[in-house]
Formats: sequence, structure tokens, C-alpha cells
Amino acid sequence: MRASSLKWIVGAIIILIIIFAGIFVALKKASKQISIPVEVTAPIFKQEVIGKSVQGRNIEAFSYGTGSTTLAFIGGIHGGYEWNSVLLAYKFMDYLMANPNVIPKNLKIIVIPSANPDGVYQVVGKGGQFTVADVKDNLPVGTGRFNSNKVDLNRNFACNWQATSTWRNNIVSAGTAVFSEPEAQTIKNFVAKNNPTLVIFWHSQSNAIYASACNNGILAETSKLMKAYSVVSGYRTEETFDSYAITGDASDWLASQSVPSFTVELQTHESIEWDRNLAGIKALFEYYGGK
Ligand SMILES: [Zn+2]
Repeated sequence: MRASSLKWIVGAIIILIIIFAGIFVALKKASKQISIPVEVTAPIFKQEVIGKSVQGRNIEAFSYGTGSTTLAFIGGIHGGYEWNSVLLAYKFMDYLMANPNVIPKNLKIIVIPSANPDGVYQVVGKGGQFTVADVKDNLPVGTGRFNSNKVDLNRNFACNWQATSTWRNNIVSAGTAVFSEPEAQTIKNFVAKNNPTLVIFWHSQSNAIYASACNNGILAETSKLMKAYSVVSGYRTEETFDSYAITGDASDWLASQSVPSFTVELQTHESIEWDRNLAGIKALFEYYGGK
């Protein structure tokens, strides 16, 4: 090939590159101009990793809506032993995605579906969302209740904490100190950051709603809210959990922080009782919606 034709080819290639670069820049500008913000109705959905378990599994929070009043729902603090409380939380999340308009404009709903993912892993063999089919059969009673340090997380919070506590007739570890466990610390940090107006914990299987209190009685707002949930869901309300002595309870710690909180215990270890809980949730939406 002669030198002069090589020059022509190189020149043509350079010109083509310049043209394509020009087109690319023009298209980019145009795409910016036409990305007009679309009006979005609630929920604005946000998924966030808010902490890690002892074994490094993600603890996630999912938020819906843009209001300034935050309601938090927490499942699975007792892990795989109460896996139905985790499934209930996921069901609630699916419902919010499918029915965004049920969320009053002044509310933001944050769901932490699985507060003890290592415990859930012991029973379902996976992280994140699962189904009933994943739940292993014939496990010893209590499997997956504790975190990987064998600590009962719902005894690790700062309300009358002691190093050991009870679960039925068993002595259980409550951690080496208040908030010694990363999962409990995650909830503590979450509360500090999000300043929730109400925190609900889903557990199983006492078929009742329990108030929270830490040496100063039940907050008036807690009483009102648990009654609202109870009337429509049919779970009876209990002012104290007196089946056995509990120290370091998460919901009681919230009471000590002046945050209204209560615990809903499902009727069995397998059912999610969706209709009852949806009715309770809607009663809360109604309670706050008019404010
Ligand atoms: Zn529980």
C-alpha cells in the first residue's frame, strides 16, 4: 500500500472517530434533557443493609413511603425458631409494594424482616426471602432461636440486663454486656438513626400482644396503639409477660427510650395470620393517617 493512501485511511478513521464522539456527546445531552422527573406516588422503596450478624450475614431494612413519621416492624429476632415472624414481615413488604396507596402520606414504614439471620439460616439454609418449603423438618425444639454466639438477642438490650436470663425453664445467655451482640447493636443504631414513632416486634407463639415497660410503667401511647391493633386482630393484650422473668428485652428497652413499642406473638410457630395482622396494621395506619 502506498504511503499516500495509508494517510487517507488514517485520516478517514480519525474523522469517523470525531463524528461518532460528537454523536455520542449529543445523545448523552439529549438523554439528560428528556429525563424529566416522573411524579411518583408512595412507596418510594429503599433497601438498605443496616448491619451484619455474627457470621457476617446482612441485616436489611426496607422502607416505603416518604412521610416524616416512621413506623418500624421487626421480625425474626428469635431467628429460625420463629421463622413465621420473618415470613409475615416479607408478606407485609410484598403487600406494600403491590398496594402503595395504603400508606398515609405522613408515614414512612420500615421493615426489618430478619433481625437474626444466622438463626434463620440454621432452619431454612439460606439468607434473604424464603418459603415454607425451605423450612427443615424435625429439628430439635428451639433450633435457630439464638445468634451464632448462642445468645438470646431479646435478652441483650439495655433494660434490667443481666448476663443470663430465662426462656421457659432454660437459662439462656444474654451476652457478655448490654448490646454485646452485633444484631442487637444494629437495632440500637437503627433506632438512633431513624427515630421511629412506633416499633412493633413480631414473635411467636403466645397468641397475644405484649406491652413494653422498663421500670416506669407502660407509655400511654403504647397502650393506645396496642389496643388499636388488638381490637381488629383479635390478639388479646397483656400488660406484662409473666410466664417467666425476662431481662434485656428489646421492646422494654424502647420504652426506656420513650419510644412506644409492643410485641405481637403469633398463635403458632408456623402460621403468619396475615388477615389478622393486616387488620392491625391498617388500624395503625388509620390512627396516624389523620394526623
Ligand atoms: Zn420470640
